[in-house]
Order: sequence, then C-alpha cells, then structure tokens
Amino acid sequence: MAVAPPPMTSDQMISVDEHLARILAVVQPLSPLGLGLLDAQGCLLDEDVVAPAPLPGFDNSAMDGYAVCAADLQDLPVELPVTGDVAAGPASTLRVEPGVCVRIMTGAALPAGADAVVPVELTDGGVERVRIDRPVEPGAYIRRAGEDVAAGESVLARGTPLGSAQIGLAAAVGRSRVSVRPRPRVVVVSTGSELVEPGTPLGPGQIADANSFALTAAAAEAGAQAYRVGIVPDEPRTLLGTLEDQLVRADVLITSGGVSVGAYDVVKEVLSRIGTVQFDRVAMQPGMPQGFGTIGPDSTPVFGLPGNPVSALVSFEVFVRPALRRMIGAEPLERPRVSAVTTEPLSSAKGKRSFLRVHLAVRKGAYTVTPVSGPGSHLLAGMSRATALAVIPEEVEHVAVGAPVTVMLLERRAQ
Ligand code: AMP
Ligand code: MG
Repeated sequence: MAVAPPPMTSDQMISVDEHLARILAVVQPLSPLGLGLLDAQGCLLDEDVVAPAPLPGFDNSAMDGYAVCAADLQDLPVELPVTGDVAAGPASTLRVEPGVCVRIMTGAALPAGADAVVPVELTDGGVERVRIDRPVEPGAYIRRAGEDVAAGESVLARGTPLGSAQIGLAAAVGRSRVSVRPRPRVVVVSTGSELVEPGTPLGPGQIADANSFALTAAAAEAGAQAYRVGIVPDEPRTLLGTLEDQLVRADVLITSGGVSVGAYDVVKEVLSRIGTVQFDRVAMQPGMPQGFGTIGPDSTPVFGLPGNPVSALVSFEVFVRPALRRMIGAEPLERPRVSAVTTEPLSSAKGKRSFLRVHLAVRKGAYTVTPVSGPGSHLLAGMSRATALAVIPEEVEHVAVGAPVTVMLLERRAQ
C-alpha cells in the first residue's frame, strides 16, 4: 500500500528569505582573472583602467581640408599656395607659415604653425593653390590633445561592465588585457526518464526537455558561462556519475527535477548522500521544493531546482540569479523592483510568497500589472508572455483591483 507523504504545514517550511540567506552565506565572489579584451566582453572590471597618455595623443585635424593660419582669412575670398599634404600616419615635418597652407586629412597631426583647419567643403578643393571662400575661427576643426582623456586619468572604474564602448576605450588607451571578475561556469543538468531531446518524436509519456534549455539560457542572461549537459534519466548512478564528471568545469551546478517526494526523485536521493546538500520546502509558489548545498573537493555549490518548468525558472530568478551575481561581484543581487497597481484581482496561497506571471505596462504615468497566466507550475507559455513577476507577500491572500503590488522586472534581450 502506498504511504501518503505527511501533510505539509507552514511550520515545516522555511521562508524564501531564509533559503536565499543560506545560499548567499555559501557562494563567494570568484577570484579576478586577466583576459584579452574580447574575452572580457560582458564581464565586470576588477581594476581601474588608467590612461597613461592623453587622448587624442596629439593635436589633429577633425576634417579633410587645409591647415592654415587663421589670420590669413581676414579678406575673403583668398587664394593660398598649398605647400604639401599631411595624411593620418607618421608625423610630417611640414610647417605652415603665414600666407601658405597645407592640405590635411582627418586624423593627421596638425603641422607646426597652423592654428585652424578649413574644411575642403569651404574651398575650391585646389591641390597647388586653394581658394577659400568662407572664414573659420582660430582653433576651428582641430581636435586638441587630451580633450577626450587627460594623461593619468582613470577612464574606467572597477566594477564597470565591459560593453562595446568600454572595450573600445580600453583599447584606445593601450590596453590589450584587463583584470575582470570571471563569469561563473554554470553546468545545467535536467533529470527525468520522461525527457527527450526537443525534435525527437515523442513516445507515450515522453516530453521534450525544456528546463535545461531555459536554465542554461537564464544562466547566460545572468552573465554566466553556461553549459547545457542535457538529460539524465532517473537513475541514481547515472546522475552521480554525470555530476562528478561535470565538477571539473563547474563553478555552479544546477539540476532540475527529482526534488519532491515522489518515489523516483533521484536528485534528492543522490545529493542527500554527498556533500552538504539539504532539501527544504520553501514557502513560495511556484517552486516549493528546493535543494541547495555544496559537493565535491572544491565545495561546488549545487542547486536542485524543481522540475516543473515555471518552478524551475522562478527558482532560478529568486535564488540562482542572486547567487551568480554574488559570484560575479555585481550589485544589486536582486532584479529591479517597482511598485505597480493591478488591473485584475490577484490571489495567493496564505503563508507562501507568490510570484505571479504578469505583464507590466505604463498607464497615465503609473505602472500597471495584468496577469498573463494561471498559477499552474507547468504553464510555460504563460511564463513566456510575462514581462515581470508580481511578488505577493506571505500574509496576503487577495489583492484588489487598483491596489499596489511589488513587481520584479524580468529583462529579455533584443526587444
Ligand atoms: P519532478 O520535479 O521531476 O517531479 O518533475 C515535475 C514535473 O515537471 C513533471 O511533470 C515533469 O515531467 C516536469 N519536468 C521535469 N523536468 C522537466 C524538463 N526538463 N522539461 C520539462 N518538464 C520537466
Ligand atoms: Mg522527475
């Protein structure tokens, strides 16, 4: 006869905050690493980048035109002999004396004696002699040395995320490598003997593995170097072997499925025996069963997330993402939160913190939220429509239309 699991009461559960605090007490920032500029893309700097020399490094022309003495342009039009050309590249020894000029290209060093550049568009474009029709002020079209960056200036502060402009600036001040906080290497395994690779024809009872894809993508979005291992069946030895094999390349392991009270909940069975992993019922919806601890010689953190796809993703948002940000050294750990008013009544299980899938909009200057899905933890399509999660506190069961709710913003790329 099957024995029913003991009824669950709220005093058997730990709170979301307790579980998160336990995780954050374990995970530590990774040691900084020197990387080539393009390998460092998306990482946070772990040093202040200082410019050893000014930018621009020398006075140069902002336009294609003629380097002149501005005093020669008093009576216009004027015709000046052109004594030579200077292009971007090695410095020229040409000098501009009063009464003559030098043809100059964008980025070329300003010849000695010149104090302005006349853009070619304001002239007849002559090569031996040039006719200048319009005046320019002294200093016109000259990019002065140091006007972008002074020598010795700190141009990128520790903690800055390295996007395209920051990488360009680091290169411009002569850096080919920088010290960064590395991306945590996150290995994702989904467990379940019902799972098959997406695209495989489904046999009876089989489903496509969604979680390892969703969680690998979520880890990458959070700034990790994410590796999808894929599917492991509900066999303790296979799971143990897979986790042990993966430890060499993992700063964090994530599993999905097999953490509740079912007979084949293999993650719980395997991880309870090794390391410090503990399985708890966390007072939240979705995502109640949660495993967390460390395994292996390096005490690698491992998250045993629940198998229902929405539970897995919400658990990632609430627990794994803050942990990854701690490892990266990024602040704040939590997603941005805003206050919004609900356009529909919301309900939440008493004693649990609910994370409701909602669409966030701005109406008359205020944020509003509208539910996009029922509460079922298997309703992944609803999760895909959500732009935010409304966070309903443990003590609240109903939120009336027009009442305020706290909302956790979910970001998606390429929108
Ligand atoms: P479990 O936590 O293993 O009992 O799984 C709970 C539910 O989530 C079951 O309906 C599973 O079939 C489903 N599930 C588990 N893992 C995955 C996965 N990787 N992709 C999609 N659904 C899953
Ligand atoms: Mg399972």
